[in-house]
Amino acid sequence: MNSNLIFLALSLLIISCKNEKDSIKDKIIPSIKPDQYITVLGIAQDGGFPHINNTDEFVAVKNSEIKKELVVSLGLIDSKEKKKFLFEASPDLPEQLSILDDEYLKSKSIIDGIFLTHAHIGHYTGLMYFGREAMGAKEIPIYAMPKMKTFLETNGPWSQLVALRNIIIHPIKEDSVLSITKSLRVISFKVPHRDEYSETVGYKIIGNHKSALFIPDINKWSLWEKNIVEQVKQVDYAFIDATFFKNGEIPRPMEEVPHPFIEETTNLFKNESEEIKSKVIFIHFNHSNPALDVDNEDRILLEEQGYRFATTRDIFPL
Ligand SMILES: [Zn+2]
Ligand SMILES: [Zn+2]
Repeated sequence: MNSNLIFLALSLLIISCKNEKDSIKDKIIPSIKPDQYITVLGIAQDGGFPHINNTDEFVAVKNSEIKKELVVSLGLIDSKEKKKFLFEASPDLPEQLSILDDEYLKSKSIIDGIFLTHAHIGHYTGLMYFGREAMGAKEIPIYAMPKMKTFLETNGPWSQLVALRNIIIHPIKEDSVLSITKSLRVISFKVPHRDEYSETVGYKIIGNHKSALFIPDINKWSLWEKNIVEQVKQVDYAFIDATFFKNGEIPRPMEEVPHPFIEETTNLFKNESEEIKSKVIFIHFNHSNPALDVDNEDRILLEEQGYRFATTRDIFPL
C-alpha cells in the first residue's frame, strides 16, 4: 500500500470512529430537546439509596450489583427563555445541579428558582450548600409556603442563609398561580402529611401543551380532600408518592410513617384505562421498596398495565 492509500485508510477510520462516538452520545443525551420539559433528577425517598445502616446495599453498589439513586427531585427547563428550576432541595442538590448544567441547560445562573414541598430532610436540606461553608451563593430564589418560610427564617443554620442573602425566600400561596416564565406556571396545593415543622404541599406544573402533578409525600390518599384519580385525569403526568410497595415492608410499625402503598394506589386506579394508568409515574422510593429493581416482577406487571416508574434523566415534554 502506498503512503497516500495508508493516509486515506487512516482518515476514513478516524471519521468513522468520530461518527460512532457522536451517535453514542446522541443516544444518551438527545441533542434535540423539547422547548419546555421536566427531567427527573432523583427518585429515592429522603434517606437515599443505598440507605444508612444497610451496609449490604453500599457493598452491592460498590460491586455494581445495584445502582445508587439520588434523592427525589425534578428539574424544570424552559429552553427558549434559558431558565431552569428545581423542585426540592435534596441532600443530593450539588450533583443534581451539575446534571442540570452539564446535560440540560448551561446558563448564567446556577438555578433560577427552587420550589420546596416541606421540611423533611430529603426535601430542603440541600439548601445548606448555598451557604458560606460551600458555595456562598447570592440570592438564590426559593419558593416556599408560609410555615416553611418561617421555619427557615427562624431556625439555624437556615436562618443564616437568609441573613447573608445566600437565599431569598419568595412566599407562595396555596392554590394561587405563579408564572415563572412566559409560558410556565406553578400552583401549590396542601396535602396531609406529618407536618412537624412546616405544611406540606404538592405542585401542579403547567406548560404550553402539557401539565404535571408532583406529590412526593402524602399520608393515605383517603385523608386528602381531593380525589387522586380525578386529579390524575386532569394532567398528563402525575409524579406521586411511591415510598412503599406494600404493608410489612419495613421492620417497624408502618403507621409511624404513613404513605399510600403502591398496592393501594394501583387498587384505586384498577378500573381506569391504560391511558389513565400511564399518567401515573411512581417516585420517592424507600430503599426497602422492591420496585427500585427494574427487574422486579411486581413492577413489571404494573408496567404492563401502563403504570410508570420514574427513572433519573427521564424527560417529560410540557
Ligand atoms: Zn420525603
Ligand atoms: Zn415527608
